[in-house]
Order: sequence, then structure tokens, then C-alpha cells
Amino acid sequence: MPTPASRHARGLYIAGRWCDGEAGGRIAVTDPSTGTVLAHVPDATVADAAAAVEAAAAAAPTWAATPPRRRSEILRRCFELMVERADALAALISLENGKALRDARGEVAYAAEFFRWNAEEAVRIPGDFALAPAGANRIIVDYQPIGIAVLITPWNFPAAMATRKIAPALAAGCTVVLKPASETPLTAYALADLYAEAGVPPGVVNVITTSTPGPVTAAMLADPRVRKLSFTGSTGVGRLLLAEAAKNVISCSMELGGNAPVIVFDDADLDVAVDGTMLAKMRNAGEACTAANRIFVQAGVHDAFVRRLTERMTALKVGPGIDPLTECGPMITAAAVSKIHRLVEDARQRGGRIHCGGTPTAGSGHFYPPTVITDVPTTAAMAREEIFGPVAPIYRFESEDEVVAEANNTEYGLAAYIFTRDIGRGLRVSGRIEAGMIGLNRGLVSDPAAPFGGVKQSGLGREGGHHGILEFLEPKYIAAAF
Ligand code: NAP
Repeated sequence: MPTPASRHARGLYIAGRWCDGEAGGRIAVTDPSTGTVLAHVPDATVADAAAAVEAAAAAAPTWAATPPRRRSEILRRCFELMVERADALAALISLENGKALRDARGEVAYAAEFFRWNAEEAVRIPGDFALAPAGANRIIVDYQPIGIAVLITPWNFPAAMATRKIAPALAAGCTVVLKPASETPLTAYALADLYAEAGVPPGVVNVITTSTPGPVTAAMLADPRVRKLSFTGSTGVGRLLLAEAAKNVISCSMELGGNAPVIVFDDADLDVAVDGTMLAKMRNAGEACTAANRIFVQAGVHDAFVRRLTERMTALKVGPGIDPLTECGPMITAAAVSKIHRLVEDARQRGGRIHCGGTPTAGSGHFYPPTVITDVPTTAAMAREEIFGPVAPIYRFESEDEVVAEANNTEYGLAAYIFTRDIGRGLRVSGRIEAGMIGLNRGLVSDPAAPFGGVKQSGLGREGGHHGILEFLEPKYIAAAF
């Protein structure tokens, strides 16, 4: 009997058809809660990638010429179908990624919103018409689809990271090849079925999975018809891809790693600060680029904050993602658990004090318990690296200047969170923190209607808001005399 998950492992999705890879290889997809194999998906080669680009190229002229209103209606239908199938999609995400069902439901709602938002953006593509300052001609600026886009996504949000790229690309009139992460490809394939049902023509969205992402991506980027690379993943892989894309001078959008500070001032509403920190830390069990990675608490409320956060972390129910009572699911792989534990051990050896958790859970799944650790020196590895797990390190601080300097002491600049009742100070500190996104008295910043992205080595470009579609459009300027 096929499991429900294996229904989404019918092949590579190229030109609207399911096909085996030319070499016939397979990639196993496992459930991180149990280690059980859920399905096998095809392992695409360079030749398969070329076929996917060919399909995207064949579909491109017709899709670019499709009236924006029609593109909009198809995107709106994608939104509606995702909402109708939210439960089934959430269960699939939970199975292959391990995240708690409630997080998976949140992800489906977030992912679907990118279709609704971009259905509205598709019919609002900008343009300019102005008299040149010298008065000799008109300046006309027309926004055209940038061309074929290669989209590469990580495992931590298998639906949302894909729709955050596919929806604006299609709204702009581009065709795409999506390469999802090998750990979580089933959601991407399930969504491919949904796009077809919503009326997305064959070849407009192609999906391929591969165990050799380096050569497969390089081959796609070497094709001169590919004009866009939109990547979400680690900063290390982002750097490699920027170098690869440089060979053909391809436009790049990069959503990379983070090292988000949370700053809790003495005057914060502690209920709001603890709730916000729990959300910023524990959404997706800490496996988020926006996750609170360093929690700075001012001396006056430090001990009370530690006590309350420890109570909340200890009370979390850890278990298989698919169990509706679970609040903290497993990590994605055994390697992820080892990395988290290495960071905790390093902090402990440097004087860190563990208040709860701190030891990997024995058993078949990849579990790590919610952990609170204080007295961590800022020289510890976890102050510089992404923890990407349910570990909350708390650092004590005295002054605003000190905490701003420390918060900015990182190569990353994605998200930051500030808790204070003094809104003047909140806005002042927001201005001083080097990050693309700030949560002010709020532990969640993601919103399809807002520009998501980072500064410094957290990335280039923005997804969402009015900025998202612009990443897939190229302005064409016409100097018109008449
Ligand atoms: P990753 O290892 O960088 O992988 C991301 C994607 O890149 C996967 O599809 C992966 O394929 C592919 N890939 C790996 N090596 C490649 C290569 N040489 N050439 C082309 N593609 C390659 O990241 P991850 O572990 O999946 O995700 C976690 C990271 O993503 C964290 O750093 C997190 O902060 C970041 N992230 C950022 C955002 C954001 O919006 N800024 C959002 C979510 C996650 P395989 O799966 O086959 O290896």
C-alpha cells in the first residue's frame, strides 16, 4: 500500500508531465520523527536540468504574453486550492520536515498568502512616463519579465520558501525551474499538481530534485536563457552560487542565514517579551532563519526573564511533528542534532549554565530538548553561528550602546527583535540595528505584504511586499521623441 506521502513521488515535473530522470537514480525521503523512509524521488542529472530549462523556455513567450488579469486569476486559484487543501499539505510538511502540525498549518497559510498577494500585484505592475528634464523627449520605463528563473529552496519551510518565489515570478510573467531541498521535496511536488489544477500552463513551473545540486545548478546557470537565480539557504552555499551566477552575469536574489538578536530592555512588558521571545525562538523548533539566536536581557529584568522563559521552555511538549499535541518536533537530521549539541557543549565549557535541556534525546528520531543557557560569553561559537534548534542562550547587558554594539557584532543582518515600552527608544534602536527586519514588541516579522530580506551577509534583494515582484522584472527605458 503506498503511504500518502509516496503519492507525491511520481517523478520529475517537467513541461507539465511526470517523468523519470534519465539516469533512473532515486533519493530517499525520510521522516525525521522516526527515521522511516517515506518515499523515493528521482535524482535529476544535468541532462534532466537541461530538459527543465528547455520546457521553461518553450513556455516563456506565451506566459509573458498572457494578460496580467489572467495570470492574476490563476494565482488567485492557487491560493484558494492551497487553503482548501491546507490540512493535507500541513500533514505532508509535518511528515517530511518533522515540524509540529501547528507550525505546518501556519506555514501553509503563510505560503498560500504569497499567491493571494501576488495575484493582486500581477495587475499592478508599474511603469513610468515623464518629460525628460531637458524637454527634448519623453522617458518611458516599461517593466518586462526578467526571463527564465532558477529557484532553489531549503528544507525548513518546504511550501513557503517555494511559493514566496514562484508566486511573484509568475505574476511578473516569468517561467521557472524549482529545485527544492533533497530532504523535503514531496511538498514541492504536491504543489506542482495544485498549480496545474489551478490553470498554470505546462512548462511555466518545472520541479526537479537532485543529489548533485552543484553541477545541476551550474548547468542551468550556464544556459544563456536563464536570467534569474533566486536562492534561499545558507550563506555558504549562497556565496558559491553568486560566484557561479557571475559567469553569465545573472541577476541574483539571495535569502541567506541569520543570527537574530532579541533585546529586552528593563522597561519591557515582560509578558509580551517572553511571549515574543518564545515565538521568535520556538516557531519551527528554532529551525528558522529569523530565529532568535542571541537573547540580550537588561540586568534589571534578567533573572525574572530567565525564570519565566525556562518555565515556558520546560513545559513544551516535544514529540513527532504529526502528533497534534506536539509543540516542538524533531530536528531535520542527526547531523543537525550533533551540530546543536556541539554549540551547547562549547558554551557549557566556556562557563555557560544550563537551566533546562542540554542533552540530545535518545531514540530513533532526531530530537533535541528545549534548552535555556545563561552566562554564555559572547566569544562562544553559538554567538556567531546559527544554532538552528531549540536552544535559547541569554546574555546580560547594562546599557543601550553596549547592546547595540553587541547585536551588530555579526556578519549576518536578517532579523532582530526589540522589547521596550518606550516607543521612542524602540524606534531609535531599530534604526541603529544592522538588520533588514525588526520586530518591535513582536516576535514574528514574516508577512507576504512586507519586504522580507537581510543586509550584510544575510542576503541581497527582498521577497514579499511591493518589492518581491520587482526582483523578477527588468526595467526597460525608452527615450521617445515625438
Ligand atoms: P543549504 O544547505 O544552503 O541548502 C539550500 C538549498 O541549496 C537546498 O536546495 C540545497 O540542496 C541547495 N544546495 C546545496 N548545495 C548547493 C550547491 N553547491 N549548488 C546549488 N544548490 C545547492 O541550506 P539548508 O540547510 O537547506 O537551509 C538552512 C539555511 O537556510 C539556514 O542558513 C537558514 O538561515 C537559511 N534560510 C534563509 C531564509 C531567508 O529567507 N533568509 C529562509 C529559510 C532558510 P540539497 O538539499 O540537495 O543539499
